[in-house]
Amino acid sequence: MEFFIEKNDIVELTIEDISEAGEGIGRADGYTLFIKDALPGDRVRAKVTKAKESYGYARLQQILKPSPDRVEPVCPVAAPCGGCQLQALSYEGQLKFKERKVANALTRIGGFTDPPLEPVIGMEYPFEYRNKAQYPFARSRDGRIISGFYAGRTHSIIESPRCCLGDPVNEKVLHEITAWMEQYGIEPYNEESHTGLIRHVLIRTGERTDYAGDKGENILTSSQDVQTVPNDAEPARQVMVCVVINGLRLPRSGELTARLLQIPGMTSISYNINTERTNVILGSEIRSLYGNGFITDRIGDIRYQISPQSFYQVNREQTEKLYAAALEYAGLTGTETVWDLYCGIGTISLFLARQAKKVCGVEAVTAAVEDARANALMNGITNTDFYAGRAEEVLPEMYSKKGARADVIVVDPPRKGCSPAVLETISQMAPERVVYVSCNPSTLARDLKILCENSYELRQAQPVDMFPQTTGIETAALICRK
Ligand code: SAH
Repeated sequence: MEFFIEKNDIVELTIEDISEAGEGIGRADGYTLFIKDALPGDRVRAKVTKAKESYGYARLQQILKPSPDRVEPVCPVAAPCGGCQLQALSYEGQLKFKERKVANALTRIGGFTDPPLEPVIGMEYPFEYRNKAQYPFARSRDGRIISGFYAGRTHSIIESPRCCLGDPVNEKVLHEITAWMEQYGIEPYNEESHTGLIRHVLIRTGERTDYAGDKGENILTSSQDVQTVPNDAEPARQVMVCVVINGLRLPRSGELTARLLQIPGMTSISYNINTERTNVILGSEIRSLYGNGFITDRIGDIRYQISPQSFYQVNREQTEKLYAAALEYAGLTGTETVWDLYCGIGTISLFLARQAKKVCGVEAVTAAVEDARANALMNGITNTDFYAGRAEEVLPEMYSKKGARADVIVVDPPRKGCSPAVLETISQMAPERVVYVSCNPSTLARDLKILCENSYELRQAQPVDMFPQTTGIETAALICRK
């Protein structure tokens, strides 16, 4: 007998999985339902709100039996904010879920039976790990200036100066900016009327560097010997603040700078001009109020200069572990030519360069390529070349016209994965090893499958939890030529 689930039906089911958006997924009579705020292991009662042919959505009515992995969320606004989809799941439960997600993708999409998967590497303290935060400002209904996060996918701001994923210094920065706005009558931006001045603040921290900020200098001696100026009086981290404004100049900027400089580690203060009606946060022009416009961070013994606009991994501690896996997988002995596709500001390229003969990076964003070159220089690394352009154009061209070759190819593409032209050229170049770093297990599995059909085999894969409390998971995988 066929059984149909319809809108407004009340169903009872056990949640088995979590969607990308963090909804619980369960089946009622074989029909898949997505239910917000339900977790794997929960037995729930829910009301169907939308029924499509093969799946539907339901609203949680009651948790009949809670999952053994349920915990009290640390953050008071975890549910409305929606930024942390997994806060109600114990960290152990989160890691189990993430490992399963990678394993499932490799078996179901990649077609690998029994994939060689290492246990996921988690964090000891899975909070306060983000080195980047962007807070919007607004006036609350009762007229106060508030800052926080957009609720779910909406544009109303939930007041929350204290995000438990962010650096505690963020709260101090927000406090100073808000107090300065109150003192001089400076208005937060209003999206609807396109009036007011202060749109967002972008805060970045560089956690492990001995660069002494305003008082010190980077002393770069030779490629192997980066001398830094230790400064015991200040914490070993730097703070960068960039205020995004709907206007051409920032009034009372001296007063703002003076306030922010009371915060230890303050290294760079700037403002960004964005007068467009847009939800893109940063405009193109940045003006410095204090410092040289960037901060530095360190991964392993490589130092990186990061400007406000550049892509940079948000979790330094875990990035170090991810890159260590990538480095190990690359199996470098000093004689290899390496191509690093989707290289950003050269983070992986420089990490590999000291153990390779040569590293060639390819990156689509021109500004990031400039950062990559500057970072090579800053670290005294001379065996890298960076090409600005799309990987699917640069690599085939370099291979067919310039005879480029590779012993190792590293890729770290955005969520959509590598384009067919990239995968095809990799197969033609036939490097010994390919190291695939990915933030999306589905496209990772899809691309590995294509490469393995063409004479490669999957040797090892290492998931690293770069985004605790969220559904994200990063993986490094090694495939070798058969
Ligand atoms: N490997 C770097 C960056 C990874 S993020 C790191 O670990 O920090 C992915 C990068 O790919 C971004 O810098 C993005 O600008 C770049 N990118 C996106 N599409 C691209 C394409 N088609 N060709 C080359 N680079 C691309």
